[in-house]
Formats: sequence, C-alpha cells, structure tokens
Amino acid sequence: MPTAIDVFAKVRGHERAEQLRAAREADLLPYFRRLEGPAGPVVEMEGAERIMLGSNNYLGLTADPRVQAAARDALDKYGTGLTGSRLLNGTLDLHLQLEAELAEWMGTEEAIVFSTGHQANVGTLGTILAPGDTVIVDSADHASILDGCLISKAKLRPFKHNRLDRLEKMLQRAVDDGGGVLVVVDGVFSMEGDIAPLERIVELCQAYGARLMVDEAHGAGVLGARGAGASELLGVEDQVDLRMGTFSKSLASCGGFIAGPHEVIDFLRISSRAFLFTASGVPAAVGAALAALRIIRSPEGPELLKRVLDNGEYLSQGLDALGFRVVRGEPAVTPIVPVLVEDDWKAVLLWRALYDAGVYVNVAIHPAVQPGGALLRTSVMATHDRAVLDRALEAFKDVKAKFEAEHGPLPEPAS
Ligand code: PMP
Repeated sequence: MPTAIDVFAKVRGHERAEQLRAAREADLLPYFRRLEGPAGPVVEMEGAERIMLGSNNYLGLTADPRVQAAARDALDKYGTGLTGSRLLNGTLDLHLQLEAELAEWMGTEEAIVFSTGHQANVGTLGTILAPGDTVIVDSADHASILDGCLISKAKLRPFKHNRLDRLEKMLQRAVDDGGGVLVVVDGVFSMEGDIAPLERIVELCQAYGARLMVDEAHGAGVLGARGAGASELLGVEDQVDLRMGTFSKSLASCGGFIAGPHEVIDFLRISSRAFLFTASGVPAAVGAALAALRIIRSPEGPELLKRVLDNGEYLSQGLDALGFRVVRGEPAVTPIVPVLVEDDWKAVLLWRALYDAGVYVNVAIHPAVQPGGALLRTSVMATHDRAVLDRALEAFKDVKAKFEAEHGPLPEPAS
C-alpha cells in the first residue's frame, strides 16, 4: 500500500535549520540568549552584566514598584490564571476597567483586550476582512498583520515600504476589486524605527473610500503628548478607524488591544476566533498593564516620554558621530535606533563582538528585513542614564575599530 511521505522530512536539511546549527556550533547565535534577572537598562545575561539595548520596555515600567504591586495584587486576588476564554470564565473587572481606560486614552468609543498583541492583529484582521475584500499593507508591516490578512483570505495587495505612490496604485486597483478596502500600516515600524507618513495615508484612504488601521505597538506609550502613538503625534487620530496596541512594550506586560468604534469592537467580542478560542491574559499581566497605563496618563507620563525620546536622540547622534550608518526616525526620532550593517553574516559577527564587550542588541537579518538590509536594532529606555549610554557608545567605538580591521568597512553615515 502506498504510504505518505514523512511530513517532518522538510525540517531535515532545511536552510533555516542549517543556519541555526552552524551559528550554534560557532557560538554565534544572537537569539535565545538567557536573561538571569530583571529586564532593566543593565541586565545579567549568561553570567555577565550587559547593557540592554535590545528591549521594548521603553519606559522602564517593568521595574516600577507600582506596576509590580498591581501585578502582585491581581495575583493575590485572582490567582495565577483564569483558565478560560474572555467569553466564558475569563473576564475580570480588571479587563473591563483596562478596556475603558484604553478607549479613553485612544479617544475611541471602545477597546477590546486580547491575550497578546499578535492575537489582536490576527483576531481583528481575520474577522473584519473576508474573501472578496482587499487589504493593502506596507511591506514592512509586522508579521502578525500579515498573518491576519492571510487567515482572512482577503485579496492582499502589499506596497513597498513607505512608497505612497505605490499605495495609491494599490488603492486604485482595490476599488476595481469590488469589495471593502482596508489599509493597515505600522505607526512606528518595528525594525526600522521610522514613523508612517500618516497624514498623507489618511488623505489617500479618504480619497478612495478605504478604512485605515494603524498598529501602534511601538508608538503607544512613546509618541504624542498623551503617548497615544503616531496617530496622535501626527494629528490624525480622528481619521484612523482602528488602532492596535500591545502591552509588551511601554505597558510593561503582555497582552494587546484594539481601539475603535463600538460596532466593530462589539462584533470582535462575539466573532474574533483569536479572542474567543484562547485563555484570557493572566490577572498579573492585566493588573500590570492597567497600572502602567495609569502612570503614562498621569502627570508623570510626559516626563517619561521625553526621557525615552531624548535617549533615542542621544544614542542616534552618538552612533552617527562614531561613523555608524544609523537609520534616522523621520519625522521624529523614536526609541528604536537601527544601525545598518547590510550583510547578514557581518551583522551576526558584529552582534557577537558587542555582546562580548557587554552590550546586548537585537539582530535583524533576512527575512525580518529585506535581503542586504541586515541591521542591529538598538533601542533605549527612559531609565537608561547617560553614563550607561556613554559606556555603550564606548563599546561600539572599540568594537568598530577592531571589527573593520578584521572584516572590512561597515556602511558609513549617509551624508
Ligand atoms: N505589532 C508590532 C508592530 C510588533 O512589533 C509586535 C511585537 N513585536 C506585535 C504587533 C505583537 O505584539 P505582542 O508582542 O503583544 O504579541
């Protein structure tokens, strides 16, 4: 009797698996490194102290005693987990309070809390889009946006990162597709750190009758006077139909949300599979996010936002002065300060040299970025002080000189 081929066969000798094995063998793997203490500006990692320039804890609130106390209180009051969906036994007063305050913060009618940001994107796009609709995405959008689009089976029309002429072409085609049209962009792009030109994107969406969703994962708790994200900073909040955010960055926890009009949010509550068919976020995570949100919205918030952005500017200028090619966040700097390396292998070698010099950064190689676009993604927190950033810059300086002598020049700053 004929039998099926082994479905596991594809993992053997797979290019990715081979890369992983080779990097592990040479102890050059920049991923899955072990943290041995709190996720602060300086961390204990694999037996040594390292400056953390690879975290999304932008405001440093994971260490805030009020956020920690809120997590502890929620744990004490409700236990370790809810063991059920939001629909059934998984909704707490904490979820409802958080949803109400998130909607107020975003200036929308309502908000809905998911167990992760990834699920918020998948569970919204996979529900609000249907076969026959068209969804237009920036090629640098987060993977969870793409996953949601694919699940929906809507027609996917990507445009090259920030090329609004291409976006307009896609909008023209989408109108001819004949279904509903949604444009989805990151407010702040997670790897490049740049801000989407939302003023023009809003105009184009309105001209063609398309709805707009903005992923504010890296903008919320960072940009705008209220810290409500890129949409606030660029003055287009009223023209953005849906705003997504996560608790896994400035909100110092884990979870995600969608904010928007009542009719859409209510529909998600009873239709979104990634909302209904998963356990609700653990009480400690929800309590921590609520406490972090309250700090951001308190009179303390603007000072925290200023500090993280000033640190972003300081690191960006410092790295530029050392001769690295830094990708500048336009029109404003963000906490994400990417250093372009271009070549994947060089990026990994440079990561290792920095790691050995006591600085941890993130490495983004293809397919996280375009081929030939490898970068070290550095990011700052409000709680990095200048002495620590200066130490990191000193390490970058030493490493650059040695690295270039051995491996050739790194890309120079764009003039
Ligand atoms: N959107 C963007 C732009 C992100 O960077 C991330 C997380 N890296 C997510 C969504 C998913 O968020 P979460 O970590 O809460 O799943």
